[in-house]
Amino acid sequence: MYRQALCLYVIAALGMANPLCARDAMKLSLPTENTSIFSSDPSQFYMYTNRSFEGRSTKPWEGGTYGFSRNPKRTADGLINTRLHEGIDIRPIRRDANGVPQDAVRAISDGKVMHTCVQSGQSNYGRYVVIEHQWKDGNYYSLYAHLNSISVKPGQSVKRGSPIGVLGYTGRGINLTRAHLHLEVNLFLHSGFPRYHDKALSGTNHHGVFNGLNLVGVNVAELFKQSRRDDGLTIAEFIAKNHPPHYRVAIPDGSRLEIVARYPWISKGKKPSSGPWEISFSREGIPVAARPITGTVQRPVVTWVKPSKTYHSYLTKGYLTGSGSKAGLSSSGMGYIQLISGKF
Ligand SMILES: [Zn+2]
Repeated sequence: MYRQALCLYVIAALGMANPLCARDAMKLSLPTENTSIFSSDPSQFYMYTNRSFEGRSTKPWEGGTYGFSRNPKRTADGLINTRLHEGIDIRPIRRDANGVPQDAVRAISDGKVMHTCVQSGQSNYGRYVVIEHQWKDGNYYSLYAHLNSISVKPGQSVKRGSPIGVLGYTGRGINLTRAHLHLEVNLFLHSGFPRYHDKALSGTNHHGVFNGLNLVGVNVAELFKQSRRDDGLTIAEFIAKNHPPHYRVAIPDGSRLEIVARYPWISKGKKPSSGPWEISFSREGIPVAARPITGTVQRPVVTWVKPSKTYHSYLTKGYLTGSGSKAGLSSSGMGYIQLISGKF
């Protein structure tokens, strides 16, 4: 109530609408009828992955969870998973006589459909939908992948719980038995992505700015759990609690740091008209903070990394090189920084 009253006051005082006022609290509901994520047996929620490690083939359900849950390796830091899964894989609970999933997929929150990929061969995600949510502290994007069919169109408004398609097994590395819904909740990186793709990446971009490479996913499983306990939770608060900084990169003056304009909470200092920035990233590559710095920065450079006994590449999806307290940017890491800073 207080927040609402303050917003009305600000609008009246400024004679204009503050764009962050007319926004929705982040109200979430699960995208399918599978609710086991909240139960004592999450193995019934997640679809397993096929793992082959040290001569053993297993089907761990943990491979369907968010985070570094795939591709185990023995390292100086012990056994670690080196591959990031940016979303969650939700198991179907309804199949017809032929085993074909029947689960309806629904929007997790009110929003607007921004992109549909209807040709399953155009993406590793197969058929997928991206929905924009105007939550309290910015616009965020839920993504629903491997769909069998899609029943919405770009530009269409949806309500939380509106059907958007049917769960399936389109896309790479997935079959009828492993059919699942892959779900992400993302930050948007840069509006110049199509140009960046043409310059820096191979293949055709069929998805404009809603290519998965221009979206970076938060821990969506924890987001469902924590927003259930705290209905005023914002993404800024969620990230501060769940995605600690793992490394920092200084970027040169003249960068178009769209993430700061798009997500003002990322900025930890007054936005200057020019000058270099230092960006903090979580292990998953989420930009969690940006701070204006003084001095000259010639090219993007790692200024701090959480020390590790093993190679930083295993811990940072290959974006960093080196080990110990020394790190550099790999070529994919440099590409990622160029995209974020709009310098390409
Ligand atoms: Zn997945």
